[in-house]
Amino acid sequence: MKCCKNDRENMMNTKAKNQSLIDDSIRVQPLPHAGDLKGVMIHYFLRGMLATKLPWKKTAWTCAGFPVELLWAYDVFPHHPENMATVAAARKQSLRLIEYTESLGYSRDLCSYCKTSIGAYDTGIKATLGGLDKPDFITCTNTICDTHWKWFHLQAHRLKVPIFVFDVPSVVSGTSPETMEGYVDYVVEQFILFGEFMQKNFGKKPNEKKLRKVMKLSERLSSLWREIYEYRKIIPSVYSAAETSASFFPLVVLPGVKKGIQFYEKLLSDIKKRAAKGEGTLQEGKEKYRVLYEGIPFWYRMRFMYDLAKYGIVVTYEPYTWSFAPKKTMGLSLEESLRETARTIMNLPYAYNLEDRIEYFEKAVQEYRIDGVILHENMSCRPSSSGMIDLKEAIQRDLGVPVLILQCDMNDPRAFSEAQIQTRVESFVELMADNKK
Ligand code: SF4
Repeated sequence: MKCCKNDRENMMNTKAKNQSLIDDSIRVQPLPHAGDLKGVMIHYFLRGMLATKLPWKKTAWTCAGFPVELLWAYDVFPHHPENMATVAAARKQSLRLIEYTESLGYSRDLCSYCKTSIGAYDTGIKATLGGLDKPDFITCTNTICDTHWKWFHLQAHRLKVPIFVFDVPSVVSGTSPETMEGYVDYVVEQFILFGEFMQKNFGKKPNEKKLRKVMKLSERLSSLWREIYEYRKIIPSVYSAAETSASFFPLVVLPGVKKGIQFYEKLLSDIKKRAAKGEGTLQEGKEKYRVLYEGIPFWYRMRFMYDLAKYGIVVTYEPYTWSFAPKKTMGLSLEESLRETARTIMNLPYAYNLEDRIEYFEKAVQEYRIDGVILHENMSCRPSSSGMIDLKEAIQRDLGVPVLILQCDMNDPRAFSEAQIQTRVESFVELMADNKK
């Protein structure tokens, strides 16, 4: 179909307008120790490979929301299929693995981590591309989503390994303190059953001394991340999601292990130096908009956060990376410590009811002096996507901050429409600019 003269003029005007919003000279300036993440990842992969090869070592597959410290305390190496799915996406493997799994009859609507992981295991791809070895057992929770249950049950059945699943209650609006204590009892009972499962299948007993040590290290790791977040309140922003999307990795896989702590200590020291000099993550004077980004990043398109920087956008707060650093409290006795752990896993931001979620977001918008919010409505992930329209309306109504919802997917590149996303981001930038006038 031929374009008429007016269409051509409109297209050229839009292009010219978009060009004026983009500043190609803007660069995200990485922290000096950002590259140390590679060493941390190599450490994790080598340790995992060794644990798989040594017959006296045990390995488990586990999921987000599971208290990984429990596994380290039992001297079990935790493998994270979700994390390896992100590696597959970053290495441009996820599409073929998803399509492989769909060819087995799994639905397009199913979580793309699950499909990537099934494809990765069945096709036997290398660990550096997101592959996983068979574990000795599988353990997970439904803290964040029901998909974990179904996915891990399915894989335990296919791989013929034992499975232990924690059923964690969801705390709805108006839950009384008495009901909450009942929930804690219920989760603690399952910790005890898990101990019996470990004893029966692997002859392993709980080791309180080791658990305390691991929890202490885990809290140190979390507290470093929380301190990094305190520095992110400064204007100009010292650290953005362009870097945190990768550097939060130790919080997921290495809580309770020194390697991640050393890395975060170096990052924090870089950040303190940057803050003392009044410098930001973008060049001087280039930060225009501070944005909160909610949801899992597009792992196959990590450049997205760098593209945002070209508009002068710094993603200053992500509920996603923040949620991996809750305060880890220990009690005086083992039972009290298990009760504290139960409370922590029931209180993750992804388990919040809508009321608490709106309050949490609005507080973050105010504390981090946010100019706009991007919500990733993730085709794969109901827990992180449900309630987004209500969230958007509340933030816009209460705080007058523009909110952009992007319908996409974290691991399936078929859901990412380049031109459409660019157009929507540009309209969002214009709204933030108008708001600042
Ligand atoms: S549904 Fe969401 S929380 Fe659950 S496994 Fe998929 S991405 Fe993770």
